[in-house]
Amino acid sequence: MSSLVYDLHSHTVCSDGIFTPEQLVKRAVEQRVNVLAITDHDTVDALSVAQATIDQYALPLRLISGVEISTIWQNYEIHIVGLGMQTTHPSLVKLLQEQYEHRMYRATLIAERLEKARIPNALEGAKRFAGEGVITRAHFARFLLEQGRATSIKQVFKHYLSRGKIGYVPAQWCSLQQAISTIQVAGGRAVLAHPAKYKLSGKWLKRLLIDFSECGGDAMEVAHCHQSSDERTLLAQYAIQFGLAASQGSDFHQPCPWIELGRKLSLPESTEAIWQRYPELFGSLESQCTEG
Ligand code: AMP
Ligand code: MN
Ligand code: MN
Ligand code: MN
Repeated sequence: MSSLVYDLHSHTVCSDGIFTPEQLVKRAVEQRVNVLAITDHDTVDALSVAQATIDQYALPLRLISGVEISTIWQNYEIHIVGLGMQTTHPSLVKLLQEQYEHRMYRATLIAERLEKARIPNALEGAKRFAGEGVITRAHFARFLLEQGRATSIKQVFKHYLSRGKIGYVPAQWCSLQQAISTIQVAGGRAVLAHPAKYKLSGKWLKRLLIDFSECGGDAMEVAHCHQSSDERTLLAQYAIQFGLAASQGSDFHQPCPWIELGRKLSLPESTEAIWQRYPELFGSLESQCTEG
């Protein structure tokens, strides 16, 4: 058991979170997080400002560089979290630039589809919510909610933005292998994000874990604050079975009653935590943070 609180999955306004990097690191400290990874969708833009804030206020927080890369695997959109990469590595910069361009292109297609469904100006609307951050479906969802098209973000996704719905455009993200290799060549470790969120059957989840492992993937997320204990136990068993280290994170985007930075995150004893298997990514944190 670690005495430190690790939260290795979170978002800022640089993608679809609602807090700025400054606000996020301050909130992490308030929530007694010791080690935070910011893992925005397909961008590492938040990290330098977040680290500058930590330095400026001498915050007792260790920041781990992170990213959440969207991939396509067997027609599913699978998210791969990268931790500890060198954010200026040319291969990583190139991949994120390609993903960015695809995001912009997909956004125009989503807006065209919505326009045909008599919902005009969705691109402008989504961009207004995205600000300077990369554009995601979450921004379209906020626009559609504002337009009164549904009563909650969940309902917007259900009726407009989920696979097969009127505003859904199949995305041409990079492959699982590309995401994993690029994270690793940039010095990081590749983590399969929220394996239970894809609603895969047991058979398909095992296939994903086999392919992820064969592509050289390093770890999988096991603990999330909003999950049943059965789910956590099952994911821990998979991590052991497939030889993957275990990770944990809130996937925090904004405050809500059941998701908070650092809350209810702990790994079953049977797993090997990612910070134990790859201590070089995390530095000598146990000593640093207990002394500080
Ligand atoms: P994108 O990467 O552009 O496809 O956007 C995906 C993002 O939309 C996810 O990271 C979530 O933040 C959000 N999202 C996806 N599905 C849902 C949902 N059913 N309810 C709320 N947010 C969702
Ligand atoms: Mn998101
Ligand atoms: Mn995700
Ligand atoms: Mn996420």
